[in-house]
Amino acid sequence: MADKTILVIEDNEMNMKLMRAVLKTGHYRMLEAVDAETGLRLVREHHPDLILMDIQLPGMDGLSATKIIKADPDLKDIPIFALTGFAMESDKEKASDIGFAGYIVKPFSVKGLLATLADCFNPHRTEN
Ligand code: MN
Repeated sequence: MADKTILVIEDNEMNMKLMRAVLKTGHYRMLEAVDAETGLRLVREHHPDLILMDIQLPGMDGLSATKIIKADPDLKDIPIFALTGFAMESDKEKASDIGFAGYIVKPFSVKGLLATLADCFNPHRTEN
């Protein structure tokens, strides 16, 4: 997994700190942005392997940023997971329409997040 780069777009410092610890545990490289505008710049510059996108951000929100990424032929194949403190059924529908690879509900479990990432990068790994 050490060759994978994950961009985290998250404005909450506590959540960002936790992400840092989790991704370090998983031996992922991490890029960080605290707003969508910076996140979009980093996506274009670094073309990360996966994006963890907070929905509620100052300025542009995570849904709008994801729509922009999904509309860009160079970037649309990067899997994006929505980070959210709430997950109403209507939000889930909206999220899958927009093209999120999945949902991570905060507060997330460290094990659960690492398993989600591993599944995304290696969907055919054998379960044991
Ligand atoms: Mn937020």
